[in-house]
Amino acid sequence: MVSKIGASPANYFDIFVEIKPKAMKYTLLVAAFASLLFFSCDETKNETPEKFDYNVTQFEDIKILRYQIPSWDNLTLKEQKLVYYLTQAGLEGRDIIWDQNYRHNLAIRKALEQIYTTYKGDKQSQDWANFETYIKRVWFANGIHHHYSNAKMKPAFSADYLQSLLTDTGATLNSDAFAVLFNDKDAKKVNLTKDVDNVLLSAVNFYGPGVTTADVENFYKAKISPDPKRPLSYGLNSQLVKQDGELLERVYKSGGLYGAAIDKIIGWLEKAKAVAENKAQGEALGLLIEYYKTGDLQTWDDYNVAWTSATDGNIDYINSFIEVYNDPAGYRGSYETVVQIKDFEMSQKMAVLSENAQWFEDNSPLMQEHKKANVVGVTYKVVDVAGEAGDASPSTPIGVNLPNANWIRAAVGSKSVSLGNIIGAYNNAGGSGRLQEFVHDQKEYDLEKQYGQVADKLHTALHEVIGHASGQLNPGVGETKETLKKYASTLEEGRADLVGLYYLYSPKLQELGLVDNWENVGKAAFDGYIRNGLMTQLIRLKLGDDVEEAHMVNRQWVSAWVYEKGLKDNVIEKVTKDGKTYFNINDYEKLHSLFGALLKEAQRIKSEGDYPAVEALVEGYGVKVDQVIHAEVLARNKQFTSAPYSGFVNPVITPTIDPVGAIIGFDILQPESFEAQMLAYAKNYSNLPIQN
Ligand code: ZN
Repeated sequence: MVSKIGASPANYFDIFVEIKPKAMKYTLLVAAFASLLFFSCDETKNETPEKFDYNVTQFEDIKILRYQIPSWDNLTLKEQKLVYYLTQAGLEGRDIIWDQNYRHNLAIRKALEQIYTTYKGDKQSQDWANFETYIKRVWFANGIHHHYSNAKMKPAFSADYLQSLLTDTGATLNSDAFAVLFNDKDAKKVNLTKDVDNVLLSAVNFYGPGVTTADVENFYKAKISPDPKRPLSYGLNSQLVKQDGELLERVYKSGGLYGAAIDKIIGWLEKAKAVAENKAQGEALGLLIEYYKTGDLQTWDDYNVAWTSATDGNIDYINSFIEVYNDPAGYRGSYETVVQIKDFEMSQKMAVLSENAQWFEDNSPLMQEHKKANVVGVTYKVVDVAGEAGDASPSTPIGVNLPNANWIRAAVGSKSVSLGNIIGAYNNAGGSGRLQEFVHDQKEYDLEKQYGQVADKLHTALHEVIGHASGQLNPGVGETKETLKKYASTLEEGRADLVGLYYLYSPKLQELGLVDNWENVGKAAFDGYIRNGLMTQLIRLKLGDDVEEAHMVNRQWVSAWVYEKGLKDNVIEKVTKDGKTYFNINDYEKLHSLFGALLKEAQRIKSEGDYPAVEALVEGYGVKVDQVIHAEVLARNKQFTSAPYSGFVNPVITPTIDPVGAIIGFDILQPESFEAQMLAYAKNYSNLPIQN
């Protein structure tokens, strides 16, 4: 299960992102400006962190960013080799996602690329500009259908113009592939419209021509897992086609469908296995290789069990046919890879918090009977991405929770990661103009600049590790989904936020060595939370809409509640300057107490299952929006809007090789441009024929 950031004019300013794993349905919070202390690891070595330019290019509705790999220098050479081999394995399968997405994609890409690299004619014309935009859109989407809407993207040039480009460059495109660029066929990659045959009408290449939804249902109804308690993932790694009226699976494996690319993947996985960090990791890689060789679904499950259990080590990866969102019938996995390095700094913070979880519980403002006697911190992992390919690139997830098989999740568990450097790049790409617009004064701006990032990281850590672990239900009270119903999730998220807020303004953090100035970190955290909860998060809503998303709702009810309760002491002051509204915190001590009081109340509601109280809290403070402020915020935000979708180029991990051919080190380089990276990938990893 992945979580992706969808279209959002907010541009990741103070956003919280939801992850909804299939089996557990919980939400993971990614803090405002969640970001990393970027240290040097590439050719921008001597520049200060702020100077790293995250923005690469922008076209149509897409913005391309770049990211760094902050953890790289913490790795040994052997570990760096492992990362390198895993990223290479990932890239070797790039063509697979193109073919999975649509049967003509590889042919179209090849023709477009030949035109793009060899055309000698007029490049000043509007037609050529439109052609360039189109090929970039196709590169971004790994095919001719939009990565998010799934709709076929219409070129802004004519069929005649494309024909002239083909003729001029000697590129070829078969008549079906040519025609489909301009006609109404295969209009949706994934068609989920009600009351139509979704399999038949989806352009995605998981099913051969003429295969219907009923065919798929009947075919898999007949498949019975040997152990019904451990159902195999039938259909995950094959294409289902009709041949002479018979349905048959073309399995993705060595010697099977996509075998040429899979053999290359296997080659790099073998190298990776040879430098595995530990036995468990090596065994898992061995099973993945076996799976790619055989396509056997029992081996796939064995691999997932081994992979889920292999939790030691600094490096982890995702590699295979995994998420099934692109299949209207939900069977077939899209090829993807993400290579991950542990975020050492964040992991260390989490470990310190986790070790002290009992202290935080004992010293919290909760009522005595709501405190846990033995609290265990929640395990939560932040990683740095070192490379992505397939369905995970250029459009990327920001969090991943795997495996997808429910029985493995129940029996063995799952791995949930937050992709820290990707989120950091999103958050830092926007610049600080919007911050300047909404802060009350220079001091607030400076505090945010200096302490905002560490405050946000710590808030995330406290929310996850301490917040969700804290508190207990009264004896006999049911689970919150039964007692608090639709308010359960916003109450829980708000409660975890409040645990974080309460401890963000605390000398304990300094005592634990987590911050160097607890007061300033706390102030920056409070400023940021209130600014966002009462104002800036509204940029994500249309005027007139209520707040609905669970995290946004909780941030508003937390902020609005402390604002109202602090009115008599002027704790948070609503200031109007030059017709603009600001919320300025006058008394951080009192605000800290108010957060504590609300935490105590939120826990009471949860512990007692008090439905009327949660309803009053959420409906009274969290849902309705002050229309005047909202209109003002939207107007002030207009100057900052840009392309709604973002994706990434990958850093290029380049080995240094000694005279006898051994790798002695690596350089991490940033690609010259988006186009250059796409062309380099096409040159180095075109492992499949145009028809498969
Ligand atoms: Zn949470």
